[in-house]
Amino acid sequence: MTPATTFAGQKLALFGLGGSGLATLRSLIAGGADVLAWDDNAGSRDRARDLGITVTDLGEADWSGFSALVLAPGVPLTHPEPHWTVARAREAGIEIIGDIEIFCRERAALAPQAPFVAITGTNGKSTTTALTAHLLRHAGRDVQMGGNIGTAILSLAPPADARIHVIELSSFQIDLTPSLKPGIGILLNLTPDHLDRHGTMENYAAIKERLVANADLAVIGVDDASCAAIAERRGPERIRIHVEGHGAAQGDFVCAGSAVRGPDGAVIAEVSGIPSLLGDHNLQNTAASVAAAIRLGLTREAIAAGLRSFPGLAHRMEPLRRIGRVAFVNDSKATNADSTEKALLAFRDIHWIVGGKAKEGGIEPLAPLFGRVAQAYLIGASSDAFAATLEGRLPFTVCGTLEAATAAAAAAARASGTEAPVVLLSPACASYDQFPNFEVRGDRFRALVAALPEDADA
Ligand code: ADP
Repeated sequence: MTPATTFAGQKLALFGLGGSGLATLRSLIAGGADVLAWDDNAGSRDRARDLGITVTDLGEADWSGFSALVLAPGVPLTHPEPHWTVARAREAGIEIIGDIEIFCRERAALAPQAPFVAITGTNGKSTTTALTAHLLRHAGRDVQMGGNIGTAILSLAPPADARIHVIELSSFQIDLTPSLKPGIGILLNLTPDHLDRHGTMENYAAIKERLVANADLAVIGVDDASCAAIAERRGPERIRIHVEGHGAAQGDFVCAGSAVRGPDGAVIAEVSGIPSLLGDHNLQNTAASVAAAIRLGLTREAIAAGLRSFPGLAHRMEPLRRIGRVAFVNDSKATNADSTEKALLAFRDIHWIVGGKAKEGGIEPLAPLFGRVAQAYLIGASSDAFAATLEGRLPFTVCGTLEAATAAAAAAARASGTEAPVVLLSPACASYDQFPNFEVRGDRFRALVAALPEDADA
């Protein structure tokens, strides 16, 4: 845990008693702050009380004595409208911050040179964070990984000169971190997302830009217009990551085929044959991680060895098993067509398990990739709508459940006699109609695939 010593002796209001809120509270108390904590949700308050935490109604509190409001990142700061605690904090004229800000102040006080890699983007944050941490750990470095992935930042070990913090940040967290100044800031990409919480694309992009604006080294994927403009504004200490043919300049990384290259064509990293890094999107993630690893002193050999041993993240094009010629891949994290597009692009001869609680637009945007699909197996609430989309365009079976779809897809892939069929769960839908979340959906698929007989392809 990182005790928040920079707030010692201060009186603070803390709102939001979920996982990261509780971690923040513990850190502040350990650092010597006096914290009044609250949540609108009675269940969260009860859970906190069960943990021995004193819960105090901030609605009834005297705000004049607080020096800051510490907010959980899920709580609206601006849109659709500021939370009531935000309004109270503004009336009282106090700052509004989150757990990453507390970490940044602790780093500034304890070890301002401690390596700090901060990672954001609309897509690929978790993969890039996990890969960066893996490369560094594999090379024997002391790495703490967390933030928006896994462990809350203040539950990690404190910053220290030889300890590298690799931290994933959501836009909500950046919004609550006014003094964000990482050693290495990585901004992967920007597409419209969470606009209900940020109002406009411009506002969303401006928040994300703050992660690289003051970083000592900025690493920016420049394949979308918003990020390209941010890279232009950023100035010299920056690495731009391009797909091939976008006018790379000195110091830039170019993603082409299965390699990350310098602008002169020299190979910096190669991912062919690494199942956890399949697909162009993962080459962008790899390029960003490699840029950070080089900056932190890893050799090309250490990076190559780290890439080869990267296990990947569960539920993101996760290779599960091979039975004879048939490969099984769990891409349960693909909860929209954009994500599923990445998986359909990475494979051919696909037996595609798809469906759930559909997003706007459904799977129509994937039509250009239907040629890669041998057959679709429809599950969940979207079945009628997706059947209508697929009618006359590719063979499909309405299976209803994941169980039925897995059995049908495995049998058909085996019977197809083709060279390398792939049974792919990439639902392009939220899971809530049939599962509590995408993790449970993916875990169920993994269990179903594990239970298939070994000789299914015999
Ligand atoms: P995040 O943490 O930003 O949600 P993940 O690393 O968990 O991202 O990846 C989630 C999904 O986003 C992946 O399954 C893939 O479909 C897609 N994705 C990953 N990396 C990228 C990228 N660099 N560009 C576009 N899409 C990506």
